[in-house]
Amino acid sequence: MIIALDVQHSGRVSRPRDLGASADIDGDSLKELHESEALWTPFYALFAQMRLLELGHTVYPISDGEYSERHRRVNRYNADVYIACHLNAGSVAQNGKRRQPYSAVFYDFRSKPERGLALAEAIDSRLGRIEEIGGNRRIWATSTKDWRRNAHYTIKGVKAVAICYEPLFIDATAHHALFTFEGMRQIGHALAEGIHAWAAQKGAAS
Ligand SMILES: [Zn+2]
Repeated sequence: MIIALDVQHSGRVSRPRDLGASADIDGDSLKELHESEALWTPFYALFAQMRLLELGHTVYPISDGEYSERHRRVNRYNADVYIACHLNAGSVAQNGKRRQPYSAVFYDFRSKPERGLALAEAIDSRLGRIEEIGGNRRIWATSTKDWRRNAHYTIKGVKAVAICYEPLFIDATAHHALFTFEGMRQIGHALAEGIHAWAAQKGAAS
């Protein structure tokens, strides 16, 4: 299978200062931590890429252009799967209270269940095997109406089966143990092995 792994937030021409999810670490109302600058996303995406290559897939890494341009590129490449790679933030509310962080996998609300939802479930189930994540996981369909619009924009132009992957919160103490070499390996491998399992299932069904 051909899989496009898109490290989003980097390379957006109209929004060169788009740094993604952010967090105020010390409560002084300045955002010190930004998804894009933290560089974890390219790190787990690289682990995912290496694992997918080991499993015999073709991987196209993407990190440049407006989202719409990237989507057109991926369509020209005839990718089967497109992953918008992200990290979340915001586990500390305005009042300083900590929220329970979770892993989130979004699929395109327009896709057939055996495509979008099934792929999201395959990836999500691998995330569930990671001790620090456990049951704190969400699978959501994107939307054009509410807050899920943001996830929809990340994938809306691709013909491939598309997922917006937000495995961790960069500012969550519950996830801190995963911000290591080994943690990123697990996050990347969960993505790769979820895709591989879904592809195998799909192959068996067709
Ligand atoms: Zn993001």
